[in-house]
Amino acid sequence: MAIQVQCNCPICKNPLPAPVGDTCLICTNSYEFLWNPSPHSFGAEKLDDHSVIVRAEPLCLKPGRTYQSSFDAWGYENRKDLARFAISYGHSGQANFGSKDYEVRVAYIPEILGSGISAHQFTVGPTPCSGILLLSPNSILYGHPYPILDVWVQQKFGTVQKSCLACGCAVSFGHPMCSQCYASIAANDWRKLMVAK
Ligand SMILES: [Zn+2]
Ligand SMILES: [Zn+2]
Repeated sequence: MAIQVQCNCPICKNPLPAPVGDTCLICTNSYEFLWNPSPHSFGAEKLDDHSVIVRAEPLCLKPGRTYQSSFDAWGYENRKDLARFAISYGHSGQANFGSKDYEVRVAYIPEILGSGISAHQFTVGPTPCSGILLLSPNSILYGHPYPILDVWVQQKFGTVQKSCLACGCAVSFGHPMCSQCYASIAANDWRKLMVAK
């Protein structure tokens, strides 16, 4: 079973049928920088920062930072489809990092794709992440993906109301569908939503 959904190209903003492929059907730009940022770019450096668990390095907060997260091996391996999923079904917003606002796209899946730590949390140690965030999905220089902590999403977008793509009921930011629709339409498997119609 499929749903007819439109999303917006993060680069040209034109409407596109979801799920998106590797490139935009309208502006023809490739989205590959969102899973494979070009070497030595800001995005590549950041993806490296968000892959420490994959390299068996410790997850720690850098000086002045309040959050850090890393893909696990599974999330890293699947980052291309996760990024395409976020473009296709994720929610767009603006969030400030430091003093500047950046475009973001957030999408949750019903699986764990990484882990994160936060200075704001009431728990000690890493927390699982089941959401992916695309930071600056409109910028080939800065764009990159990473696992997002719920505590961050709540802090930035906790009051934003979104609707289920299928039935229109209220869902939290970053959740494409309500749990009933996710089960009935996608059998709780995000990959089923990635099959081109
Ligand atoms: Zn486009
Ligand atoms: Zn629904």
